[in-house]
Amino acid sequence: MFYNGIMETTTLTNFHLLTSQTEFELEETQDTPPRCYSPKPINNIPEIFWAKRSGGRTPILKTLLTSACEKNCIYCPFRAGRDLRRATLHPAEMAKIFYQMITAGLVQGLFLSSGIIGGGIRTQDKILDTAEILRTKYNYDGYIHLKLMPGAEKDQVLRALQLATRVSVNLEAPNQERLKDLAPRKKFQEELMQLLQWADDLRQSFRYSNKNIRIPSIVTQLVVGAANETDQEILKISADLFSRLKLSRIYYSRFSPIPGTPLENRPPENPLRPVRLYQASFLIRDYGFTLEDFTLTSSGNLPLDHDPKTLWARTHLLDSPVELNKAEIPLLLRLPGIGPKTAQQILEFRRISKIKSIADLRRLGIPVDRVSPYILLNGKKIIQQPALW
Ligand code: SF4
Repeated sequence: MFYNGIMETTTLTNFHLLTSQTEFELEETQDTPPRCYSPKPINNIPEIFWAKRSGGRTPILKTLLTSACEKNCIYCPFRAGRDLRRATLHPAEMAKIFYQMITAGLVQGLFLSSGIIGGGIRTQDKILDTAEILRTKYNYDGYIHLKLMPGAEKDQVLRALQLATRVSVNLEAPNQERLKDLAPRKKFQEELMQLLQWADDLRQSFRYSNKNIRIPSIVTQLVVGAANETDQEILKISADLFSRLKLSRIYYSRFSPIPGTPLENRPPENPLRPVRLYQASFLIRDYGFTLEDFTLTSSGNLPLDHDPKTLWARTHLLDSPVELNKAEIPLLLRLPGIGPKTAQQILEFRRISKIKSIADLRRLGIPVDRVSPYILLNGKKIIQQPALW
C-alpha cells in the first residue's frame, strides 16, 4: 500500500472516511462544460479523482481536514446536527498521507477543504498548516488547491496565495438574499465576497512585486437549484466576478437532495441547467457576451432546449448573416461552432486564400450544419445537399 504501514490505523480510517465523504467537485481549467467529465477512481482507491486540467487529465486527491462543522447550511451533508459519522485529521497527518501518495505516484495534486470548527480563522490555520508542511518539510512544489474559509483574515488569504496554485471561496448563492436561505450563518458581502476581493487585490500586488512569482488562480462555486435563484441572478454575479475579480472559473454545482437535511424532499435540479450556465459563463468570459445578449424565459432562466449562443445567432444573424471572408474576430466569435482557436485559424486561412466552399469550412474544423444558417461565403449562402437517407 502507498502508506507502507507507517500510518496508524485510526489515522487511515479517518482519512478514508473523510475522503469518501468528500462530495465530488470539479477541478478543471479547460473550457468544456463538465458534463463531459467522468471522474474515475484509480487503483480502487475511491478518494482519487481524475481532474481535467490544461495539458491533460490529472489524478487529484480531494479531501477534507474534518467533516465536522458548526455551520448549518441547509443543503450540506456536513451541516451541524446531521446524523453523520465525523472524522478529523491533524495537518501533519494529512500532509504525510498526501506526500506518501505523491511518492507512490498515485496522485499529482491536492484539493484541500474542511468543515468549520472553532471559527473560520482557526480552520483556515489548519488548512494553511497542511500546505505549509507540504511546501517546507516535504519540499512538495506541485499542485495545491486551498479553500478559503468564511471569516478568514486577510493575512491568511495572503499566506494561502503564497502556498497554493489555486484558491477558492464557495459563494454558494448569487447574492445575500439567496444565501440567507441556504446558509443562514454566512454573510455574502462581509465574509465571502470580501475573501475574493482580498485574494484578487493581493494577487495584483504579487504581479507588481516579483515577476517570477507563481500567481495563483481564483475560482468559486455556486449551488444551482437549491434557493429558487434564477439564471439571471447567477449570470449577473458571474459577469461581475469575471470582469472585476478576474476569476478563472465559476463552478455551477447542481443541487441534489441529501437525506437528513431540510432540503431532503426537494427535487434534484435538472442536469441540463448547469450545462447552459457553463455555456453562458464561457460566452461572458471569453466571447465578449454581456447579460443583455442572453435570451431568458419569463422566469429569468436560460431556455434549456438550445444553447445560448445559438439563440443569440437566431435572433441577430438569420436575417443578416456574417460574411466569413471579411468578419473580424469579435463577430466570428458570435457564430455557433466557432471558438477563439477557430476564429484565429479563419484569419490565418484568409491571409492565404478566400474561404470558398464547404470543404474549406471542414478543413478549418468548422461544423457546417451549425454555422451555415448564419454565414455567407463571398456574398452567397451555403446550399447544402439534402442527406440521401
Ligand atoms: S460551512 Fe461548509 S461544510 Fe459547513 S455546513 Fe456549510 S457548506 Fe457544509
